[in-house]
Amino acid sequence: MKALVHDGHRTIALLDRPRPHLIDPTDAIVRVTRSTICTSDLHIMRGAVPRALPDTVLGHEFVGVVEEVGPGVTRFSPGDRVAVNCETFCGECFFCKRGWVNNCEHGGWLLGCTIDGCQAEYVRVPLADNAFTRIPERVSDEDALFLGDILATGWWGARLAEIEPGSSVAVIGAGPVGLTTMMCARLMNPGSIIALDVDEARLRCAIDHGLADIAINPTGKSQTEVEALVREATHGRGADAVIEAAGSSTTFEAAWRIARPNAVVVVSAMYEQDQVLPLPQMYGKNLIFKTGGVDASGLDEVMALIEAGKLDTGLLISKRYPLNDILDAYRAFEAREDDCLKAVITPWE
Ligand SMILES: [Zn+2]
Ligand SMILES: [Zn+2]
Repeated sequence: MKALVHDGHRTIALLDRPRPHLIDPTDAIVRVTRSTICTSDLHIMRGAVPRALPDTVLGHEFVGVVEEVGPGVTRFSPGDRVAVNCETFCGECFFCKRGWVNNCEHGGWLLGCTIDGCQAEYVRVPLADNAFTRIPERVSDEDALFLGDILATGWWGARLAEIEPGSSVAVIGAGPVGLTTMMCARLMNPGSIIALDVDEARLRCAIDHGLADIAINPTGKSQTEVEALVREATHGRGADAVIEAAGSSTTFEAAWRIARPNAVVVVSAMYEQDQVLPLPQMYGKNLIFKTGGVDASGLDEVMALIEAGKLDTGLLISKRYPLNDILDAYRAFEAREDDCLKAVITPWE
């Protein structure tokens, strides 16, 4: 089969690889019907994910049809349409029992990182009963495509932010994760959503689709000027909740600055460099920081919101490429050609 493989030295290539087979009884094999490229794939390509193994098929955001299941898989059978969680988790360890599946003692982020991922024709998914979310008949593959990764991240970030009805919510980054975060935050009836991004097209997208009420472009502005703009929009206080989904060199500082005292600051972004937490400067602001990688569990609830038409991620799809042209898709996604938000990979032709 065809698969997109990175070599650990910043090079990716479309190669012929053997079709995966079941290894453990709890494995399943999925025929990939739609996959996408995630910014985390670019992080791996650039060598910014130390645990990523070379000669691995990239990709962890996908949907498909179950082809084969091991004897330990009880909830799914061949023919089922499924959205696949970007994280592998056992459901039984100390962390899983508390919903903290990102730190599962027997899993974590494996697919497309330490084991072969989904940018291929077929993929082996471990612990399939936990990894799969059934796609209802009325939901298309593309409508379910982002469930297991960026939509899960948006949902997780918005929930961590403790948004109350009427809250002002600032979301830093109007890229794919920022936009799904705004979509999920919107369901919690905030007073206003403020989107911050240096990309004018992405801000426009957030406003045009009703995901944000106020757009702030920090380009050419100092951190204190951006802070003042957010304060102006929030009764002079700063945002009640901040979700930092950008991960650039200035956005961590922006996140704690635009938060009001006693706010929750959620950091769902992934940085390529260390960030500074200037405790003397923020002393007395009494902020609550929540950071990390998505605990992508409980996705049946999110799938139900998709089915009910309350979450629609269609606006994220910028262009479709067959697996044959995945290298073009990487180039367009990385360069944000034609304001590319998400490049969707369709099956090999
Ligand atoms: Zn991802
Ligand atoms: Zn576990």
